Amino acid sequence: MMTTTLFDIQRTKTSRITEVDIENLPFGSVFSDHQFMMEFENGKWNTGVIEPYGDMRLSPAAMVLHYGQAIFEGMKAFRQPDGGIALFRPQDNIRRFNVSGERMCMPKVDEETFMEALKELLKLDSQWVPNAEGSSLYIRPFMFASEVHVGVRPSAQYRFVIFTCPVGPYYKGNVRVKVETEYTRAAPGGTGFAKAAGNYGAALRPTELAKAQGYDQILWTDAVEHKYIEESGTMNAVFVMDGKLVSPALGDTVLNGVTRASILKLARHFGLEVEERRIGVSELKAAAESGALQEAFGVGTAATMTAIEAIGFVGGDVELPPVEGWTIMPKLAKGLDDIRRGRAEDPFGWRIVL
Ligand SMILES: *Cc1c(COP(=O)(O)O)cnc(C)c1O
Repeated sequence: MMTTTLFDIQRTKTSRITEVDIENLPFGSVFSDHQFMMEFENGKWNTGVIEPYGDMRLSPAAMVLHYGQAIFEGMKAFRQPDGGIALFRPQDNIRRFNVSGERMCMPKVDEETFMEALKELLKLDSQWVPNAEGSSLYIRPFMFASEVHVGVRPSAQYRFVIFTCPVGPYYKGNVRVKVETEYTRAAPGGTGFAKAAGNYGAALRPTELAKAQGYDQILWTDAVEHKYIEESGTMNAVFVMDGKLVSPALGDTVLNGVTRASILKLARHFGLEVEERRIGVSELKAAAESGALQEAFGVGTAATMTAIEAIGFVGGDVELPPVEGWTIMPKLAKGLDDIRRGRAEDPFGWRIVL
């Protein structure tokens, strides 16, 4: 066993990297050699370990399985032109992880310890960061209640884990979205702003129903009146209306996406007008019908940007102009990708080089 100042490290004896076609990767089913794990008990975090990736032991009475205290994050690392590796805005994910944890009554992870865990894990598994165009290393930190106890109250024990997946290009085509006016993703005062596992479980049924109606995703509306646009699946929503970039304002019912923040910042940097405000379903419908709605897309770490080709409103679908003719989404996508992959200057300090 090797020991850094902060963690214990148990290296795998046999790397699995030779079994993997790193130039031809699926999304989310190939896992790197190592994982990071750290336990919280007696009111504090123990020393973390980096160990070979593999199954965990868990009691059937572990509180997470019953009362749902579980949160996660998703971020990426990119191979740089000089062969090095850069994480993209990891501090933002670390901060958001602690925001999610606070809402779910879970303990804070020290930001520096979190960052060191990421760096040590990635250094050990640096070969797993793909080089191919469009590929990256997807990083999944998560935390759950591990105390063995029956009865609803905050757990006294937690497990914090990070594993990573080399991933290929996510592109799955453009999407048709359904404006949801019956089901709700997040209510005021609820957990919509947290990356809490239960939010995703609760969204499955409405999403499957939308798929059965021919859509790929839901465009969620507010829980109170179903009159204002919120976000889509695991992506924030961005619209181009009359040449301006418009995105629903953040609040406690919308996940504060790092990709959204980056795209809006980049758009302002490029001289585009940007509005973060309430967007009425009726406003969006009128804009789609008149042609004022020029482009619409979802933004999130996994897919980066996904074009919305049609929006399903009550009363019928409205098709957007053909995606091939769009200019703003491709410009922003390239701008963001060039920064992430080290092909452009990084005026905002978004790259954290290992
Ligand atoms: C993760 C997520 C997003 C996108 O956030 P990024 O930080 O850009 O990856 C948007 N909406 C929801 C509901 C999410 O879970």
